[in-house]
Amino acid sequence: MEFRVTCCRHCFGVGHAYQWVDESEFADACARAEHEFEKALKARKAGDPPPRPTMLSDAGGYGFDPTLSPVDECERCAGQGVGRTVIKDTRFLSPQAAALFAGVKETKEGLQILTHSPLDAAEKLAKHLGFYEQDNEQKGKGLAEMVGAFAAGLHARQAGRLPIAQPGAPAGAKTPLGGMKAAKWK
Ligand SMILES: [Zn+2]
Repeated sequence: MEFRVTCCRHCFGVGHAYQWVDESEFADACARAEHEFEKALKARKAGDPPPRPTMLSDAGGYGFDPTLSPVDECERCAGQGVGRTVIKDTRFLSPQAAALFAGVKETKEGLQILTHSPLDAAEKLAKHLGFYEQDNEQKGKGLAEMVGAFAAGLHARQAGRLPIAQPGAPAGAKTPLGGMKAAKWK
């Protein structure tokens, strides 16, 4: 969900008059105004002042783009623009936003965005980013390191027994060379 400040209807209008999206938007607005005028005529009671039709103009031109930034010289908003709440398609939320997002509730006042508490969100985000797996991996790594250190210790002890094969080894040495030497000297 984003809050944007974008141009008002007069920012880019010709002479800063009301700018319409296109001709069909203008035609729809004219039809609506006519309908309202006829309704007011029918509802008029004796003694009421005659209703006045709403006169719409397209002097401001067409091409209103609600994504543009406001214009400082605008005679209507003076560059303040209009605040717009933009709700993005929830299928494409970032992991951070998805962790906060709990759903959308339709209310009489409009859409209500439901969010998780920051703590819940932090936990969901941590899960999404794999912090817990990393945690497990680290535990695993710790175990692997322990096994590695144990294996290295065993190896070091085996290395300590290597001198058995060297000349001068006590009789009964298991190496073939040691056995041959022993036979020659007899
Ligand atoms: Zn404006």
